[in-house]
Amino acid sequence: MALIIQKYGGSSVADAERIKNVARRIAAARARGDQVVVVVSAMGDTTDDLIKMAYQVTQQPGERELDVLLSTGELVSSTLLAMALKNMGYGAISLSGAQAGIRTDASHSRARILNLNPKRVVEELEKGNIVIVAGFQGITDEMDITTLGRGGSDTTAVALAASLGAEVCQIYTDVEGVSTADPRLVPEAQKLDEIGYEEMLELATYGAKVVHPRAVELGELFNIPILVASSFTDSPGTLIHGGVSMEVRNKVRSIAHDLDMAKITLVGVPDRPGIAASIFEPLAKANISVDTIVQNASIENITDLTFTVAKSQLDRAMDVVKPIAESIGARECVSDSRLGKVSIIGTGMQNTPGYAARMFGVLSERGINIQLITTSEIRITCIIDEARVKDAVQALHRAFELEIEG
Ligand code: ADP
Ligand code: ASP
Ligand code: MG
Repeated sequence: MALIIQKYGGSSVADAERIKNVARRIAAARARGDQVVVVVSAMGDTTDDLIKMAYQVTQQPGERELDVLLSTGELVSSTLLAMALKNMGYGAISLSGAQAGIRTDASHSRARILNLNPKRVVEELEKGNIVIVAGFQGITDEMDITTLGRGGSDTTAVALAASLGAEVCQIYTDVEGVSTADPRLVPEAQKLDEIGYEEMLELATYGAKVVHPRAVELGELFNIPILVASSFTDSPGTLIHGGVSMEVRNKVRSIAHDLDMAKITLVGVPDRPGIAASIFEPLAKANISVDTIVQNASIENITDLTFTVAKSQLDRAMDVVKPIAESIGARECVSDSRLGKVSIIGTGMQNTPGYAARMFGVLSERGINIQLITTSEIRITCIIDEARVKDAVQALHRAFELEIEG
């Protein structure tokens, strides 16, 4: 008897019919004699709707209350799924993140799992129950409810797979697997049969929300293969794992894009030690994550400093940075929220020159202006006007011949 972990995303449990469809798929796994632990996301757009509701009540909902509010979305879907399974004659029980033993730190809205004690989950499995765990949530030592960041149910699933010693974590969603680009933007995108943790982590971090980046991190750390597949079909999906063959690794594998970004530029900043710290330490204290940072070469000890943040954090970041800009004597502090980023990713780029030039050439042929560039060993990212992101992704997908299976 094997232990199977399955995770179903929001669109897979969006209404009563879909919940019953998921219940049938779980029942089929159970009927094969396996023990099944299921993680669910909130139904459809519930999390977005709850956030909107909070902001209709106040501009400052407070992170503790917001986390409790958002955690209710996953409680609804997990309880309904348990009811559907019971109605089909199966033993099933729903558990909140806290009941499933998920302890986190206290960083509300982006908590990290510190420890997972699956005692209750194991007890319920031993009783013969199918266990349905509410994704995306945990609890602090002070018994406050936390959430793991948008898309975090994937992380709940991989963490459970690791702590229960499952052989694989199955993530079921509304696409066939991980593709060479977001199929919503590039209909010709090819589904990949397999991808390594390293490439998947870059893809997820740079916008491919098909799997949560921290789920990939945990998968790699505990060597748990992650299968991403459709909850609507029986096609085989994409296996994220550590044993991808050399040949498959040797090329650009996928294009990622992200529309959730804004930039802040401090113009005319004095170039002296301590200036960067005086800007970025207060941002970190305000729990604002900064992505790309670029400092221009200084002329007569005056420079410009640009960095990017998520759009949702722009107002708060400006509130923090404006007074600092004034106190250090910067000429001005300006922002732009109409940006997006597009990345080419693949281990094949490692130590191989020419990829950056090809990428810049493709964007220039389309008349797309590159505002900032960042790279890792296996990724090149260009920050561009958000209105040109779709065009850029499609052109890059064609230029790197990703529509041809390899
Ligand atoms: P779920 O609700 O099941 O967690 P998400 O909406 O979080 O699903 O993730 C699935 C979505 O990820 C797809 O609908 C697709 O538009 C998007 N996506 C972005 N990049 C990719 C990619 N490279 N391959 C597959 N899907 C992708
Ligand atoms: N419901 C949460 C979200 O929408 C978590 C998840 O879906 O994984 O971000
Ligand atoms: Mg998701």
